[in-house]
Amino acid sequence: MNLNIKAEKAQTYDAIVVGSGMTGGMAAKELTERGLKVLMLERGYELKHVEDYKTAMKDPWEFEHRGKITNLAAEEHYASMYFSAKEGTQYLYTNDAGNPYIQKRPFNWIRAYHTGGKSLLWGKQSYRWNREDFLANAKQGLGVEWPIGYDDLVPWYDYVEKFVGVSGQAEGLDVLPDGKFLPPWP
Ligand SMILES: Cc1cc2nc3c(=O)[nH]c(=O)nc-3n(C[C@H](O)[C@H](O)[C@H](O)COP(=O)(O)OP(=O)(O)OC[C@H]3O[C@@H](n4cnc5c(N)ncnc54)[C@H](O)[C@@H]3O)c2cc1C
Repeated sequence: MNLNIKAEKAQTYDAIVVGSGMTGGMAAKELTERGLKVLMLERGYELKHVEDYKTAMKDPWEFEHRGKITNLAAEEHYASMYFSAKEGTQYLYTNDAGNPYIQKRPFNWIRAYHTGGKSLLWGKQSYRWNREDFLANAKQGLGVEWPIGYDDLVPWYDYVEKFVGVSGQAEGLDVLPDGKFLPPWP
């Protein structure tokens, strides 16, 4: 792959990863660890780890509305994430009003255009999809059938869970497949 950034400074890469969220981040990690030279493209601004988490150390009473986003902000700018955006995290969400999208069916498209993407917003609950989750959309006539099923992903779930560290307890439930768990929280 030859990426011509500047004629005199042409650089070559083995792979290009588009997006620096969890998906792109994991892909880049795996590729670079295997010695590939990787270019990561991120459409958003650079948000520096820790340094740019401007609200992380604030207490609720330090926010004008004690952490709740205003109704106006929710309606006009953050319609797709009104249920999760807070005063402290609002700056991490991409504003819907400035970035409208077409919905054929009601659809909340939550976007976070910066380095790390939505990894800065997620709730840290790390569930596997179950067998049925891969079949449900086809059964309900929505979208297309998944080209892979649960069994194809099991070794990869195992692999990622061991890397990131997921606390939990094996319950043997079909709807919530067990993973490679760290000890559960009390
Ligand atoms: C409030 C909240 C709570 C959540 N809680 C959980 C939870 O508890 N458990 C769970 O499993 N999931 C949770 N999720 C979902 C989870 O966070 C996302 O599914 C996951 O982070 C998506 O990762 P991603 O890398 O696929 O996408 P993203 O994190 O969206 O990353 C995509 C990246 O690509 C960039 N990009 C987009 N288009 C382009 C382009 N054309 N060129 C270059 N770059 C581009 C974006 O700027 C972004 O950085 C939650 C989400 C939210 C918002």
